[in-house]
Amino acid sequence: MTRTTPPRPVDVETLFPELAAYRASATRLHPRPGAPGVGDSSVGGPFLWPADEPWPVCTEPHRRRYGNRTEDVRTERRILAEAWSRTPAPGAEPGPTAEEGEILSSFKRGRHAPWLGDEDPIPLMAVAQLYRRDVPGLGGPADQDVLQLLWCPFDAHHGKHEPAVVLRWRRSDEVGEVLADQPEPVVVGSEGYVPSPCVLDPETVVEHQDFGLLPEALQARIEEWEGDEEDQDEDSFLYESDLSIAPGWKVGGFASWAATDPAPVECGDCGHSMELLLTVASREWDSGSRTWIPLEDRATAEEMDANIPTHVTVGRWGSMNVFACPTDTTHTPRFVLQG
Ligand SMILES: [Zn+2]
Ligand SMILES: [Zn+2]
Repeated sequence: MTRTTPPRPVDVETLFPELAAYRASATRLHPRPGAPGVGDSSVGGPFLWPADEPWPVCTEPHRRRYGNRTEDVRTERRILAEAWSRTPAPGAEPGPTAEEGEILSSFKRGRHAPWLGDEDPIPLMAVAQLYRRDVPGLGGPADQDVLQLLWCPFDAHHGKHEPAVVLRWRRSDEVGEVLADQPEPVVVGSEGYVPSPCVLDPETVVEHQDFGLLPEALQARIEEWEGDEEDQDEDSFLYESDLSIAPGWKVGGFASWAATDPAPVECGDCGHSMELLLTVASREWDSGSRTWIPLEDRATAEEMDANIPTHVTVGRWGSMNVFACPTDTTHTPRFVLQG
């Protein structure tokens, strides 16, 4: 299904013509629950991965025996989705039955992989696969047409409270036999690192630079136009949430620095300034970004989990901006958590 972002409620370039210099295209990915295959762009779908290529693992020292069982996370989501989509019998409460409730309450965090030492290799989790033909504006090397993002689903890497992200570029026409049994970690540090299978309906939109990176004089004029916070109502729009940067999963465009001060992102290998490749988002929209809800989703926007189709949570319900080095794709990507 096509997804259509409604036009911005006001044209910011009419109000502030100098914003034309701070405009860029972004491609919203619009993940929605589905059953993608290896030949599809997806979040949480199977990868086009050569049968004879080793699957990447994490060997960074951290505890990996304790957490949620990956299988439990998937079962819980399935039970909840089924339970809440049922029409309850007359007189019965909506939601999970007592029996289902019992199963759900048996899913606990724990020492589910006691055999794993702190440096034992564990397979990374397949998170997203993007085909260049599906995603306008996808960066990376022109001769490679598939981007795959994997991560180690524990918040304990690089001395920080964050997952370890790995990017792979490949040529789809070089993949012969496809790996049939895709490995995945048995236990995850956080259930928000288990993506639910989603198909994508990419759509190109126009964005404008993050407020914090605009010239001060322009910031002042935008703030004056927005008015005082106490005078704002549902007919007021804010540059940050309504007019500049699209929420949700996307490729390209501008990084949102809503949660921290903007900071230059430089390649750790060569020092070159890095480019925003992909944004991984916990929500497709929230109460502050409802103007970005696609027209096709308006009728069901309030339904359970409508704005969290991938069930991925990064940061505290924020987003993760993945930056790549434009000079060399083998240079380590960097990512910045927001919120
Ligand atoms: Zn790890
Ligand atoms: Zn570099």
